[in-house]
Amino acid sequence: MKPFRYVQSSGVQDATRHVGGQAESVFFAGGTTLIDLMKIHVLQPSELVDVNQLPLSSIEVSDKSIRVGANVRNSELAWHVAIRERFPVLSEALLAGASTQIRNMATTAGNIMQKTRCPYYRDIASACNKRVPGSGCDAIEGYNKGQAVLGTSDHCIATFPSDMCTALAMLDVTVITARPDGSTRKIAFTDFHLLPGKTPERETVLEHGEMISHVELADTPSSRNSHYLKVRDRASYEFALASAAVGLELDGKTIKNARVGLGGIATKPWRSVEAERALIGKPANTDTYKAAAEAALASAKTYEHNAFKVPLAKRTLIEALEELMAQHQAKTK
Ligand code: SF4
Repeated sequence: MKPFRYVQSSGVQDATRHVGGQAESVFFAGGTTLIDLMKIHVLQPSELVDVNQLPLSSIEVSDKSIRVGANVRNSELAWHVAIRERFPVLSEALLAGASTQIRNMATTAGNIMQKTRCPYYRDIASACNKRVPGSGCDAIEGYNKGQAVLGTSDHCIATFPSDMCTALAMLDVTVITARPDGSTRKIAFTDFHLLPGKTPERETVLEHGEMISHVELADTPSSRNSHYLKVRDRASYEFALASAAVGLELDGKTIKNARVGLGGIATKPWRSVEAERALIGKPANTDTYKAAAEAALASAKTYEHNAFKVPLAKRTLIEALEELMAQHQAKTK
């Protein structure tokens, strides 16, 4: 591991100024991805600015929303009673991710900022435009079973790995940031991550030195009636091959409003407005869910080893909607 400086920040502005003032300085919180990547020389910051002691660890609950501090650990968020009652999809997604030990360390902001699991990104002997811009992409012609089928480009096809972010993509979420000049800004979660395009090394709209301070979740009927389903190679401690985060607001047996997030298959946390359009105003039944699944994957582009993800993602979305409706019917009997 390359030697680095360790700095404890004294406040949010101190942290943002410190990182913003040096090109190779980064924020350090849970460290569950950063330290791994430093050990294998994929990331080589010259300085870690520790933000763990900053006052960003609270979950503030109000009637219409929940405000989550950047440093809230994934376990705490998943088990919080208001999250379980009002955003079940988020609790389920968090508990489907990683291991208990990692969830106890990983933070809300760190989860949003997490890096792809593309094996070529993590192997410094491979060509990777995300790690070394302009070097090429060994995944496109290589072993690409785990890579994305939505949102890809000729420069990168890496899957965004987070379960939590798949849930956040279908909820009404605002990311609040703090900048080195002392200003703050609010960013809709769906605008936060960038498609790879020609610059896959640029993953979010954050500027250098800008840090996530909070995430705000708006309480809606479809967030309360929501569900997460994850399909993977083994039952625990594994990333999604396909996942679906779904929320439905119902008017009798008709779908009044729908939210759909898809994971394991896209280059950023994926909200499928195509699937939502196919659900809204339709009867809540299997035919409607199948139409939504077809719409969601209509623009999929597959590679040599990942074509299986298209039918798998369709079945995952259909099953997630079926399970959600079964839960809803059991509760409203
Ligand atoms: Fe790198 Fe993206 Fe290609 Fe993976 S898919 S090797 S992350 S450029």
